[in-house]
Amino acid sequence: EDKLDYVKSKIGEYPNFPKEGILFRDIFGALTDPKACVYLRDLLVDHIRESAPEAEIIVGLDSRGFLFNLLIATELGLGCAPIRKKGKLAGEVVSVEYKLEYGSDTFELQKSAIKPGQKVVVVDDLLATGGSLVAATELIRKVGGVVVESLVVMELVGLDGRKRLDGKVHSLIKY
Ligand code: 5GP
Repeated sequence: EDKLDYVKSKIGEYPNFPKEGILFRDIFGALTDPKACVYLRDLLVDHIRESAPEAEIIVGLDSRGFLFNLLIATELGLGCAPIRKKGKLAGEVVSVEYKLEYGSDTFELQKSAIKPGQKVVVVDDLLATGGSLVAATELIRKVGGVVVESLVVMELVGLDGRKRLDGKVHSLIKY
């Protein structure tokens, strides 16, 4: 059985959510399936082992990136950290405002989360316009980290988000 085909078959599709004209790709459809959870973990971890073995920390984006950063980190024997929406993280933070496929927001990262020069893989469920990952990259650079790869489960290729990102970008599933 092909792991990728199996995961793909479990991802939900919701037209006109959360707004008219948006076709929402729902990762939770896959996560309710035990086999899809394991396959998804294997696919992400195997990819990083191949593509970014130098990675030292896995950063997940609020909020569906959190489903994957700890999961991947434990498999690779690394630590993980969150990038969160404004006002959620304690202590000293760096902030950046960014645009979403729908709306705009501010992301924050704790200054203590990443050591200068540390090699970071950023993970999220979906790449659309790339605004979130561009903002995440900016935050990581502000605290002295180096993004070695941006990794997502799904990519909406028509929106060309990957063009806005420098460095390696990988998606498991392309729509
Ligand atoms: P971007 O910043 O690349 O335009 O949008 C990516 C962000 O929006 C991700 O954090 C992702 O969770 C969310 N997002 C945008 N469209 C979808 C979608 O169709 N499905 C899911 N699950 N998330 C989406």
